[in-house]
Amino acid sequence: MSNEHIVKYKNLSEMPEVVISSSTMLWNHTGSWRYIRPRYVNKVPPCNQGCPAGNDIENFVGLIQQGKTEEAFMVLKEENPFPRTCGRVCYHPCETACNRARFDRSVAINALERFAGDHAPKNYTIKKQRPDSGKRVAIIGSGPCGLAAAYHLSRLGHSVTVYEKLDRPGGLLRYGIPEYRLPKDVLDSEINDIIKLGVDIQCRKEVGKDIGWQGLKEFDAVLIATGVHKNKKLGIENETALGVVAGLELLKSIAQKMPLDLGPKTVVIGGGNTAIDAARCALRLGSEATILYHRSRAEMPAFVDELDEAEKEGVVFNILSQPVRVITENGRATGIEMRKTRLGDPDESGRRRPEPVPDSEFVVPASTIVTAIGESPDLAFLPPDVLLKWGKIIIEKFGLTKHPGVFAGGDVALAEQNVAVAIGSGKAASMAIDAYLNGADINSAAERLVIGNHGQASMSAYLKTGNAHSNNRSSKMVVPFEDINLNHFEKFERSKIPKLKLADRKQNFNEVHRGITKSAALLDANRCFHCGVCTMCDNCFVFCPDISITHSPNKWGYDINYDFCKGCGICVKECPRSAMIMEDEK
Ligand SMILES: Cc1cc2nc3c(=O)[nH]c(=O)nc-3n(C[C@H](O)[C@H](O)[C@H](O)COP(=O)(O)OP(=O)(O)OC[C@H]3O[C@@H](n4cnc5c(N)ncnc54)[C@H](O)[C@@H]3O)c2cc1C
Ligand code: SF4
Ligand code: SF4
Repeated sequence: MSNEHIVKYKNLSEMPEVVISSSTMLWNHTGSWRYIRPRYVNKVPPCNQGCPAGNDIENFVGLIQQGKTEEAFMVLKEENPFPRTCGRVCYHPCETACNRARFDRSVAINALERFAGDHAPKNYTIKKQRPDSGKRVAIIGSGPCGLAAAYHLSRLGHSVTVYEKLDRPGGLLRYGIPEYRLPKDVLDSEINDIIKLGVDIQCRKEVGKDIGWQGLKEFDAVLIATGVHKNKKLGIENETALGVVAGLELLKSIAQKMPLDLGPKTVVIGGGNTAIDAARCALRLGSEATILYHRSRAEMPAFVDELDEAEKEGVVFNILSQPVRVITENGRATGIEMRKTRLGDPDESGRRRPEPVPDSEFVVPASTIVTAIGESPDLAFLPPDVLLKWGKIIIEKFGLTKHPGVFAGGDVALAEQNVAVAIGSGKAASMAIDAYLNGADINSAAERLVIGNHGQASMSAYLKTGNAHSNNRSSKMVVPFEDINLNHFEKFERSKIPKLKLADRKQNFNEVHRGITKSAALLDANRCFHCGVCTMCDNCFVFCPDISITHSPNKWGYDINYDFCKGCGICVKECPRSAMIMEDEK
């Protein structure tokens, strides 16, 4: 409106007469004019839906914001036994999903998870949720999937035995991901919580060798979580020569503190996690490291951050080249013959297919050649009715196989291979096993266990232990960015994750990423919109023109007095975080 239309009164007498009531208007139930009404709805924040481990992110971030870090840790532990581990190695798809990413930058959820994990209460106890059931569950494999399932099953009252073929529990968290990304004392602290619950982890017990499938008959249910560890072959001449090693073998030797002698020049073939970690380890062991990969860098399956760090540390990337043969002298590898490639049409994975360039061969000298083009499962021990597709166990929702009482999860069954997915699938399988042991229908239960419309399994939903700020959300609606009222938020710089200086990473396995400080954690937690969750910010209370919104005297939140709410919807419009909806009058 332009200024010329604004009428300015010099004194009271100039003002027109207006109608005011001199007695109560409470008899006038203006609510009867309404045909739509506002309602508070606890929706699903996109970050929660994006977390494969099923963490209640909005809840724990809110607790950090309030300075309640120890409570934040306990909230994380309800859903996931490995917050310290995930806070270091998870690829944080939650941050990609975070609504704040479209405003300035996503909330630093991964760093906050690590912060809560590293600031756990001094003496905390993970409580059992149910008394002993008398049922026994065997878990094959002690990686993140098997251990997450063991943790939840034990809390659900079942007796759990984990069989692990290697010397110590942890799977690839111990024998794959190197110390400079995941210190093993951190991993041990989280595994200890699982042991303290009474889970029996039997190491050096390989199912199929030390104990047969028949030996598991005494258990009421079995979970297969054996991962993928069989090195895929290059299929080239002299592949078995001395000096050619599998990526996981190299990483395992380092984890066991008996690193292989690599000599001065290590060449790594592959572009996934194993390849990048093998190359970074080679540098730390004093060797030069070159990665040879048949597509371009953009197609490498490894996490972009890891690629960047590897490059900064001095790993050389020789892309668009494929191995032809290993060159040997007296049975020992001395180099590898490679051929240039160019990218053709996309293959079934959606990535552009590498095509050989004729007459483009070249030789890369090497004292060690590390092969890391992928791993596959070793499932020789399985009974015939557990079916496989593309070498992996076929499972339905929540890890069910066709064999009654047998479940599977993690890398051995899923196409997506990462820690949070393995943890989430172990948790989902634990719920399915619990339902199976109790004679309940797993599929109908699954409907109420997931967060969001295609989300992850929630233990607090399963146990119905949530509060207003928990996964026990009253709606499966996921809050889109467009529903956030940005007028109520200011841009604010995201916390930077401190890293070890490049010079300090040489010849040692010290952790590269460092934790954020308390003040940085508070500032970042403060950036959270709390999408779809009422924080009692009072906006609705202040904006309601009918004074129909009041603080609830006995519970968290507000009451709406529908006798006087005319259904104008201002409260819903002004809610910063889309924690209200307008719905038709019934
Ligand atoms: C080098 C490397 C780095 C990685 N980095 C990351 C990362 O930074 N972030 C991320 O999210 N993911 C990462 N991943 C992927 C991630 O580690 C896996 O997806 C995850 O560990 C899979 O968990 P899992 O429990 O299914 O299997 P695993 O962790 O593989 O555990 C399976 C366990 O089963 C045991 N086992 C196998 N067969 C038997 C048997 N017959 N009897 C008894 N025990 C058996 C194995 O010894 C092993 O301990 C990485 C993987 C590798 C190889
Ligand atoms: S586990 Fe991964 S996806 Fe889940 S909250 Fe942590 S960083 Fe995010
Ligand atoms: S702003 Fe907060 S609640 Fe919303 S998606 Fe991001 S972390 Fe989750």
